[in-house]
Amino acid sequence: MADTTSQFDAVVVGAGFSGMYMLKALRDRLGLKVRVCEAGETIGGTWYWNRYPGARCDSDSYIYCFTWDKQLLQEWEWSERYPEQPEILRYLEHVAQRHDLKRDIQFDTRVTGAEFDEVTRLWRVRTDTGGEVTASFLIAAVGSLSDTNLPPFKGLNQFKGKWCHTSRFPQGGIDFTGKRVAVVGTGATAVQAIPEIAQQAKQLTVFQRTANYCVPARNGKVDPELVKARKAAYEGVVERIKDSFFGFEHYFIPKPVLATTPEEREREFDRMWDAGGFAFWLANYQDMFFDQKANDLCADYIKRKIRKTVKDPVVAEKLIPKGYAYGTKRQPLDTNYYETFNKDNVLLVDANTDGGIEEITATGIRAGGKEYEFDIIVFATGFDAMTGPLKALNLKGRGGRTLDRQWAGGPHTYLGVAVAGFPNLFTITGPQSPSVLSNMPVSIEQHVEWITDCIEHMRKTGKTTIEATPEAQDQWVAHVNEIVNQTLMTGANSWYMSANIAGKPRAFLPYLGPEGVGGYRRKCDEIAANGYQGFALA
Ligand SMILES: Cc1cc2nc3c(=O)[nH]c(=O)nc-3n(C[C@H](O)[C@H](O)[C@H](O)COP(=O)(O)OP(=O)(O)OC[C@H]3O[C@@H](n4cnc5c(N)ncnc54)[C@H](O)[C@@H]3O)c2cc1C
Repeated sequence: MADTTSQFDAVVVGAGFSGMYMLKALRDRLGLKVRVCEAGETIGGTWYWNRYPGARCDSDSYIYCFTWDKQLLQEWEWSERYPEQPEILRYLEHVAQRHDLKRDIQFDTRVTGAEFDEVTRLWRVRTDTGGEVTASFLIAAVGSLSDTNLPPFKGLNQFKGKWCHTSRFPQGGIDFTGKRVAVVGTGATAVQAIPEIAQQAKQLTVFQRTANYCVPARNGKVDPELVKARKAAYEGVVERIKDSFFGFEHYFIPKPVLATTPEEREREFDRMWDAGGFAFWLANYQDMFFDQKANDLCADYIKRKIRKTVKDPVVAEKLIPKGYAYGTKRQPLDTNYYETFNKDNVLLVDANTDGGIEEITATGIRAGGKEYEFDIIVFATGFDAMTGPLKALNLKGRGGRTLDRQWAGGPHTYLGVAVAGFPNLFTITGPQSPSVLSNMPVSIEQHVEWITDCIEHMRKTGKTTIEATPEAQDQWVAHVNEIVNQTLMTGANSWYMSANIAGKPRAFLPYLGPEGVGGYRRKCDEIAANGYQGFALA
């Protein structure tokens, strides 16, 4: 970036799906002067950083893309139902080129702090390149899953082999051929990576803290006739996903599972299982999210599948989830995951039955009092989800108050897009918005368009600041919690509940319903139409 100007209308932090579209909307629709700061060396966000073997999206490709470029929806050809990371990155690079985005993005630049100056009403934004810029608006497009979580394992610095986190995989990958490899973690990422690594490694040992309910992905080429039909009717597809519960073309079965006969529900379970992807999770009987007995019926179906697939009954038992309801953790999609545990070169070490990780040693891992030797350790330990990347911005709002202190007990936002006391700050797919409980491009586009409309409204009406009122924020937080408390979600030690990281205050991070992303969109639009209810404009 040759431009040395230091004053902007808006600074956007992050250049993934969110930051790219935010730049496009503010620059090309409103004509604003925008600077994007991105820590990575190019665009892509998630799809730049997560290069582990098997990395691919779990949303169907025809809806895991931007819908605002109508021509590109017609032109772009995805190779598979769930494309791999390099293909998604290629797609995003193509979007960046097509819309000339890179000229306004400063790469290799991490925002390390930002303060709202109450006199000038500008954000002062600092970066790790030593620069400082000012902007009327600060937009956090930092991602929900971008802040790597590496638990503080004792002894990691003494390990003599290679180690890495899945979200910071080296360019060019790692050759696992002939190596003794450990994978730590069994979440959605690990479920993608484990079958791939097992094919190369001499010996793979998987360290499991909590067994997951995995359902089949059923990846593959999409029937060209279906691709054609979807393209011919894309407008309808886009309208439906915007109005849907989760941003997918999935709809709950309009009947409680508890009101079905065993034959009827087995037929439905088989149908969803065969359809693959998130159908079993998001197009199931809705009472499964609310009623433990209903949930047990769905969970039991998956448990039977695990027992049928995994040949060694002791290993199968370790892989059977226990102590939490199905669907309350991020759904991993399985391509040969359970089958992988039938291989002779794969060993499962389960924290509950074999003992948890005690220490990383010079030669490997000690768990349950036993030493395991490795050449390579891969940590698939996830993220400090949602609040992590926002807190890392070291934001200071009115009166110098920090976001870190304000969120000491968990996130407090209005609609997941604004925070009281932090004027002119917007958070794309922030905590307490549908975000990670949706097909994210749908939620990202909704926030970007709402923020753009809001800034346009401010400019037209001569307002310079907007901020959530503490009352509206309190009501929103209470509403988010009231809804989720009616579900089984709060019973799981999931990252949705902030429970994957020791010491993180237990709080439900996204927003669930009651009418899903469609209802949330209508609510946001209604608030805007009523003069930005719950916000103070000055
Ligand atoms: C492995 C994986 C698979 C996924 N699969 C799906 C899926 O199938 N469907 C789905 O809907 N979602 C999926 N997601 C969620 C995914 O994150 C979103 O779909 C989407 O890519 C988010 O885009 P974003 O731009 O909001 O955030 P990101 O893509 O995370 O981009 C945020 C960017 O901000 C940058 N950044 C953060 N902090 C700073 C800072 N302080 N200074 C400068 N730059 C900063 C980061 O470097 C990053 O590049 C997946 C996530 C992962 C990790």
